Amino acid sequence: MASSDDERTIRQQIIDLLGAEEATLRDISQGVGIPEKEAVDHLVHIERSVRSQGKKLLEIPCCCLSCGFVFEKRRRFTKPGRCPLCRNTHMQPARFHIE
Ligand SMILES: [Zn+2]
Repeated sequence: MASSDDERTIRQQIIDLLGAEEATLRDISQGVGIPEKEAVDHLVHIERSVRSQGKKLLEIPCCCLSCGFVFEKRRRFTKPGRCPLCRNTHMQPARFHIE
């Protein structure tokens, strides 16, 4: 289990990454070296901490590559398994950005 210092460092790395470019959960997990599931947890905290700095964590929503369905109303930060309209599992993953 990571110490809270490690967690802070990881969060700062994610904040730096998302401040520089749009990134998917996979980009974050590869960029920082953590599983995607952990990246989701960090995003929840990061959203709060950047808000206190007057910044915003933006989510460019996931969409279906087959029919273009956009997962706007989806619970944040999680990845849908398949499209509710066409049942396709090929998704353009959500991207995150801090500005
Ligand atoms: Zn679809």
